[in-house]
Amino acid sequence: MAGRRGPLPPAGTPLLAYGQGRSYGDSCLNSDGRLLLMRGLDRFLRFDADTGVLACEAGVTLGEVLALALPRGWFLAVTPGTRLATVGGAIANDVHGKNHHRNGSFGDHVRGFELLRSDGSRQWLAPGDARFAATVGGLGLTGAITWAELQLQRVSGPWMQVQSLKFDGLDEFFALSTESAESHEYTVAWVDCLAKGAALGRGHFLRANHAAPGASGQAPGAGLAMPLTPPLSLVNRLTLRPFNTLYYHRQRARRREGVQHYAPYFYPLDGIHDWNRMYGPAGFLQHQCVLPPAQAREAVRALLGEIARSGQGSFLAVLKEFGDRPAPGLMSFARPGTTLALDFPNTGAPVFALLDRLDAIVAEAGGALYPAKDARMSPAMFRAGQPGLPAFLPHIDPAFSSSFWRRVME
Ligand SMILES: Cc1cc2nc3c(=O)[nH]c(=O)nc-3n(C[C@H](O)[C@H](O)[C@H](O)COP(=O)(O)OP(=O)(O)OC[C@H]3O[C@@H](n4cnc5c(N)ncnc54)[C@H](O)[C@@H]3O)c2cc1C
Repeated sequence: MAGRRGPLPPAGTPLLAYGQGRSYGDSCLNSDGRLLLMRGLDRFLRFDADTGVLACEAGVTLGEVLALALPRGWFLAVTPGTRLATVGGAIANDVHGKNHHRNGSFGDHVRGFELLRSDGSRQWLAPGDARFAATVGGLGLTGAITWAELQLQRVSGPWMQVQSLKFDGLDEFFALSTESAESHEYTVAWVDCLAKGAALGRGHFLRANHAAPGASGQAPGAGLAMPLTPPLSLVNRLTLRPFNTLYYHRQRARRREGVQHYAPYFYPLDGIHDWNRMYGPAGFLQHQCVLPPAQAREAVRALLGEIARSGQGSFLAVLKEFGDRPAPGLMSFARPGTTLALDFPNTGAPVFALLDRLDAIVAEAGGALYPAKDARMSPAMFRAGQPGLPAFLPHIDPAFSSSFWRRVME
């Protein structure tokens, strides 16, 4: 069983490094194998407050990096929507954030790391090494990262200057995204997945920069918690439509602007402990795709149309255009194009059928799904989205595997 402590496993038992399990699917799981719990490697090794170069062990969380670096004027160059992820996990999924169009993905700011292989060897890998490119976004399959050196970016403090703009449809989203790419480091949109017809693709476009020196706002509160798992999902047909409609109309003005603390801006879900419980015991499924630039507009339209027709909605529907920078990893998910991330309550057969229809639209457009968010994609879907797979395979550590890997490489 994954995660069990005890004597050394028999030869041939697959190994896998485990960070904080913040991946949504089975890419961080290893059923009938062994997980190497990396969180214990939690020491800072060096920090240069003049250059922003930080060396730390791989189990350090992104939140711990910020707690050290932000008071000294430095911030992560790229952050995902949770600060509970570890540095090792962020490298292995080559995670992206709202500033991909400016800064690329996490691996673009890794100066190097040590990789421990199952034969006991330790290799220092840096950009330019073939195994560096295989390990960044390599789903933990090339060995265990023990420590890494990161380049942080300078900021003037914890505050963000945020604008929220209502948009009426997808054409407006793409226009805002183009217009904001130069002026704003962070861009992302929330889309109302239940809107149909003329309202299809309406939503809120959020764009932000780190605020200028001297800015200040309201300090974040203590956070909320889901105290228990309700017997049924709180996210269902009855709650989704009023939620999405209310959320869309919560802002009367077309444009709102303000100063916000970085924590609720970047990590809204970290502020609600056990937020996943609201989906009930059956949980939820994520579907995050990336669509090539030429096909993106039509494919997003088709995906939203399919979801609206199904009536299954999504509580979180996040749309973002990635930048043109080539990915640092052979298997990196973030690449030029548009990404749409969706959360669906697990309603059983109906949602699985809907997800298959969404996959078909993504495949037809030449897109890919994000392994870090996946629990059910087919082997064919995985292979179609990974042109770097043949170059990656020789770098896999023969003793490493994951539940995800066995599922998609069957
Ligand atoms: C609320 C929320 C928001 C999120 N937002 C985003 C987002 O905006 N962008 C994005 O890209 N992702 C996002 N994610 C996904 C998350 O950032 C990634 O799944 C991340 O990799 C999780 O890190 P972890 O330390 O928990 O790793 P785990 O989930 O434990 O493992 C992830 C992978 O990393 C490997 N791994 C972990 N540690 C090591 C190591 N030391 N050496 C080698 N391999 C290792 C594992 O084997 C596995 O393949 C979000 C997740 C949540 C819960």
